[in-house]
Amino acid sequence: MARFTDPVCKRCRREQIKLYLKGARCYTPKCPIDREAPPPGMHGTRRSKVSEYGVRLREKQRLKFFYGILERQFVRYFELAARTSANTGEGLLSLLERRLDNVVHRLGFAPSRAAARLLVCHGHVLVNGRKCDISSMILRPNDVVKVKTNARSQKMARTALQTTPPQIPDFLMLLNNEEPEGKMTRIPTRQDVDSRISEIREQLIIEIATR
Ligand code: SF4
Repeated sequence: MARFTDPVCKRCRREQIKLYLKGARCYTPKCPIDREAPPPGMHGTRRSKVSEYGVRLREKQRLKFFYGILERQFVRYFELAARTSANTGEGLLSLLERRLDNVVHRLGFAPSRAAARLLVCHGHVLVNGRKCDISSMILRPNDVVKVKTNARSQKMARTALQTTPPQIPDFLMLLNNEEPEGKMTRIPTRQDVDSRISEIREQLIIEIATR
């Protein structure tokens, strides 16, 4: 399975924004972005004019890095979103929000999307009562996401819930705090997109994706 192997904070430094990829550490003064670290590379501090293409490319990369997806998956989501009658940009964001790893993170069972992905891949999560280890699974309304009842799984999720209490979006509902369990109540809209990336300009992403 292809995956990112670069140092995580390097992605935020490249984009010069916080992408919140490391959970609790992102909220401490150790975050390189808070310490005004320059973009990576020998010429990172050099200012150069960014082309129109470059602006669109960076917007797309931000979105991919934030949700932890690679180009191939991005293309797949874009094609799925383009096939629907709804606005393609909003459809794309909605699909990303419906990913199982994103839902696990936003329900607060894992401190970051990367941690949520591990939780899912290692078989600690049940969807509608059945084990699911596919972090890219797209959830549907009324799907119930639950952490396995064994002590190890429960401990990981409860620790995450206690250390970083989540701001649960309207399309999700926490059913049970003791045995972490949540439900997707409806399809997420543009307003439900994670506030930490809500300023993303999806129109620019669509422009580069349709080139
Ligand atoms: Fe690293 Fe998190 Fe700061 Fe990004 S936001 S640079 S991942 S600590």
